[in-house]
Amino acid sequence: MPLPDLRDLLLQDMTALLAEAGAPAFRATQLCHWIYKRQVTDLQQMSDLPEPLRQRLQERVYVSSLTLLRQQQSADGTEKFLFGLEDGNQIETVLIPAGDKRTICVSTQVGCAIGCRFCLTAQGGLVRSLRPAEIVSQVLYFQAPGKTPERTFTNIVFMGMGEPLDNFQGTVQAIRILTAEWGLGISPRRITVSTSGLVRRLEAFGRADLKVNLAVSLNATTDAVRTQIMPINKPYPIATLLAACRAFPLAMRQRITFEYVLLRDVNDTLADARRLVKLMHGLRCKINLLPFNEIPGVPYHRPSEATVQQFQNYLLQHGLSAFVRQSRGRDISAACGQLRFEERTAQRLTDHASQATMPSALMAQGEQARAIAGPAATLREGGQ
Ligand code: SAH
Ligand code: SF4
Repeated sequence: MPLPDLRDLLLQDMTALLAEAGAPAFRATQLCHWIYKRQVTDLQQMSDLPEPLRQRLQERVYVSSLTLLRQQQSADGTEKFLFGLEDGNQIETVLIPAGDKRTICVSTQVGCAIGCRFCLTAQGGLVRSLRPAEIVSQVLYFQAPGKTPERTFTNIVFMGMGEPLDNFQGTVQAIRILTAEWGLGISPRRITVSTSGLVRRLEAFGRADLKVNLAVSLNATTDAVRTQIMPINKPYPIATLLAACRAFPLAMRQRITFEYVLLRDVNDTLADARRLVKLMHGLRCKINLLPFNEIPGVPYHRPSEATVQQFQNYLLQHGLSAFVRQSRGRDISAACGQLRFEERTAQRLTDHASQATMPSALMAQGEQARAIAGPAATLREGGQ
């Protein structure tokens, strides 16, 4: 059995764990200060804990961290990070500066089980869900030790790899840690969770009362088209999804964001815009239009700028708040999951090549070559 990871735990769990180790409750607050505010992962460096307690803890717990494998920066300032997990899996996190905002786009799973046809993360299916610690550590990476979050980033969106509500426990626990005073102390108003519409979990998510913002990937205005591009529409069709959205608890002035990936000749017509206006009737919402980010091997295309403009204008003229979220970081190419995808492809190619031509003693050099050959990566804007 692996040791429990302190970054997976709530304060009360840590207090219970310390009680078992014979330590008083205030030591839990000290531990949190070390692992979140100072970002220390080595228990032996936690100098205000008594030496015998450090020893006892060392036998019972540990603190995980992520390994940065690769980083790419786009001309527009967008940065993409590929992190290695302890079991060798890889995830991506993106930092998107836009005006006075700096948004971190975090992953919640390795891969995704939902299978949307236009999404690169869907290819290869779900490998596993992330632990809360693995979600929180993505954010911690951007928070310099000792600095307040406001100094380093302004917003967090759960729009990276994976379906947050398919990793319900991991996502909820991570949000509790991110927003707790003893954790990272981030305002829930600065956090947005995006879902493809896992309705049964959406209700539970509302009941969890986390006070974060909700985004829903609608992406179509008829069940026929939505089922074609998002298989989750079969169990949870549009009417069911929107009923759950209407019932979702919102604070005053809080609105649900509906994301709408525009696919040429699939969901980008004026008839779609008209239906979208009708569907949104009575919902406190705003619309984020995401012109499709083209991906090799995926049979969809991005509509022309004129079509996107027309679609947005129709929504605006009919009283909806509608924004176009242009893909960011196009020069490092763009769609969450791509960096990991390309890394895996490169690995397969290298593995084949090495099996064919390299004696095992030379494999290590192959590893090195793989790390240096940086394929282009892509990402879309995850901002609100
Ligand atoms: N699984 C969650 C969150 C991650 S996906 C969800 O689906 O909401 C975040 C957003 O990226 C979704 O709105 C999705 O529709 C969109 N997206 C996925 N692939 C895209 C692509 N190739 N181009 C543009 N947007 C894409
Ligand atoms: Fe999963 Fe979201 Fe991609 Fe759909 S769009 S496959 S839910 S990550």
